[in-house]
Amino acid sequence: MTNKEENLPFKIGNATVLPGTTKTIYFPISIIPHYSTFKLTLRIIHGRRPGKRLFISAGIHGDELNGIEVIRRVLNSPLVKHIRGTLIAIPVVNVFGMLIQSRYLPDRRDLNRSFPGSETGSAAAQLAHTFLKEIVEHCTHGIDLHTGSNNRINLPQVRCDFESKEALDLAFAFGAPLVLKADLREGSLREASEKLGIPTLTFEGGEALRFNEFAIRAAVQGIFRVMGRLGMIPLEKCVSIRKHPVISHGSHWLRAPDTGFFHTTAFLGEKVLKGKVIGKIMSSLGLVSADVVPPLDGIIIGMNQSPIVYKGDALFNIAWVHDATQAEETIEALREEVEVNPSLDDPTTY
Ligand SMILES: [Zn+2]
Repeated sequence: MTNKEENLPFKIGNATVLPGTTKTIYFPISIIPHYSTFKLTLRIIHGRRPGKRLFISAGIHGDELNGIEVIRRVLNSPLVKHIRGTLIAIPVVNVFGMLIQSRYLPDRRDLNRSFPGSETGSAAAQLAHTFLKEIVEHCTHGIDLHTGSNNRINLPQVRCDFESKEALDLAFAFGAPLVLKADLREGSLREASEKLGIPTLTFEGGEALRFNEFAIRAAVQGIFRVMGRLGMIPLEKCVSIRKHPVISHGSHWLRAPDTGFFHTTAFLGEKVLKGKVIGKIMSSLGLVSADVVPPLDGIIIGMNQSPIVYKGDALFNIAWVHDATQAEETIEALREEVEVNPSLDDPTTY
């Protein structure tokens, strides 16, 4: 007679992970021109006791590196030593993109617009198909880690489908400064996994090709809170939420009114007021300038980092919130909490 509390071996690809063990698995994904096989690296922590199976993925956009560091810290934490259920970590999904520091695949496709993919499609479609079939379908829940793109930086935030009650519950449990309602985008991993009945959160924070400590810490803490909520680790070991995240039902990109050099003193998490100038676009000699003016009250959740802008470029992503003053205070309090929490220090000593 088997003990109900004993987990079964976890099978993935040709590998089997025994209960109470951790294994690194290399998944062949395609052949590159000189006939070598590219491999997807997975780290699987398979608990002694049965429970939820959570995937955490990063680098779907190859130049978004923050999530790689988030996963490294999660895997090195003592909190994941004795989990219930299974944690499947994929720190770099788009290996090709990471190597050339690009968001895309060699076929110039965006992997996060290529799901569910197919066996016979483009390189992006094949990778999406393999990732979904061989990894995601083995899971009960997922968290996909992203950053801003194209010189844009994002406030740490969780995006989810408010129609999915379980995803929304986990988004709140995550405890990032902001929870943003984001409809499922066609071709995204989140859309494909939600269609399979696997509630999935998208975390956004920081910028491409850079580490951002605030975003990394917020994501590490959030992943542990979600694992606590799913019963994978004891809830009392997670830092409890002192303030509920700010909720937003949508956001609006404020675009450059002219071409020139972008100046601003505004910052992520700051409240903005309709009609109040938050930046200027100036010509090189300063003879011409155009004001950047929000058309609504809200909170800055993403912003452009490049001084050179062209008319129509996205400058500020402004989230609609119920009370901008209160939202700004909440975000500041959550930022301080994350920044001073010693349990979120990098577990690696060097
Ligand atoms: Zn991304």
